[in-house]
Amino acid sequence: MHLYIHVPFCQRRCSYCDFSIAVRKRIPTGEYVETILTEAARIPPSNLETIYLGGGTPSLLPSDAIRILLHELSKRFRIPNSAFRIEVTLEANPEDVTPDNARAWHAAGVNRVSLGAQSFDDNVLKWMHRSHDAARIGVAVQALRGAGIDNISLDLIFGLPEELHRDWERDLETAHALRTTHLSLYGLTVEPRTPLDRWISRGAASAPADERYAEEYLLAHRRLKADGYQFYEVSNAARDGFRSQHNSAYWSGKAYVGLGPAAHSFDGTTRRWNLRAWEGYRRAMAEGRSVVESEETLTEEQREIEAIYLGLRTIEGLPLAAASPRRLSPPPHFAAQGWVEVRDGRLKCTPEGWLRLDSLVNELTMHTEIQQ
Ligand code: SF4
Repeated sequence: MHLYIHVPFCQRRCSYCDFSIAVRKRIPTGEYVETILTEAARIPPSNLETIYLGGGTPSLLPSDAIRILLHELSKRFRIPNSAFRIEVTLEANPEDVTPDNARAWHAAGVNRVSLGAQSFDDNVLKWMHRSHDAARIGVAVQALRGAGIDNISLDLIFGLPEELHRDWERDLETAHALRTTHLSLYGLTVEPRTPLDRWISRGAASAPADERYAEEYLLAHRRLKADGYQFYEVSNAARDGFRSQHNSAYWSGKAYVGLGPAAHSFDGTTRRWNLRAWEGYRRAMAEGRSVVESEETLTEEQREIEAIYLGLRTIEGLPLAAASPRRLSPPPHFAAQGWVEVRDGRLKCTPEGWLRLDSLVNELTMHTEIQQ
């Protein structure tokens, strides 16, 4: 089982973010930890393969709360060898990574940190409403390494509006110079009701352009490949041996359990998700009610389509073997346009294919023949 814990608290809302967060000056730490552990007690124990603390901003939790959470969860679920040799990831904002915090996280069992860097341009970071500056990112990386956490991922956002004059290549070079093990690259999207959405509506910002998105995405592929990273998923690149095991479980359709507001769980056929807002989730737990907002059981057809989507988003691609329960016959123009290739009996997206993944999957699933 793969365990996700959603920590919903942030100190402010970033301009592009529509995640389920609770903006708080003071984090209700005790209540949060108790509520998560109460929810965990409702779940039958099983072996844990990975733990991921995501948010929101998990690094806003005091390090002692992180220690208690991981300790109690390791008692509740079975972790081989009690020493956390499984992958334990903490999402952190650079400004929270002090040498003391990093040492305490490491002692608590955290062995991988995903840093919300986003850019190395101070003007861009201000525009995003981030609370760190560019210099802080390198300081955070050094503090983590000093504490013994070498498996570090950086999140970066590309495809920003023209008027910001963001130098994407320079940001990629700066990220490379930090020599982290992993990079996650996300194209900016405009989500409804975010500050960015409002700025665009009133003409204070321009919408991200598709051409810029495509250029920067393909540039990242070229640069990172030359720098020794492998794109193993549409948005993720890693050095050898440093793929995210937790996220890889999602992409291979494995079971996972989510704790906390808005967290999702999946048992292979049914997906459940918790109440989205911290207040509603907290109240339901305090009153002993279910925190599951809704659930869906995937039909055979939905599972087929999901398997195609998940397969194509990874570098492994989709098996085309006759032994497969489905036989895929991609339209000839997919390969002619350079969007896919067949290698080792598997259909794989090229970087150009990953740029248009959703439309490829839509078209492909119309061409899927299910063998009888
Ligand atoms: S820190 Fe992350 S979760 Fe919080 S508002 Fe910013 S982008 Fe959203």
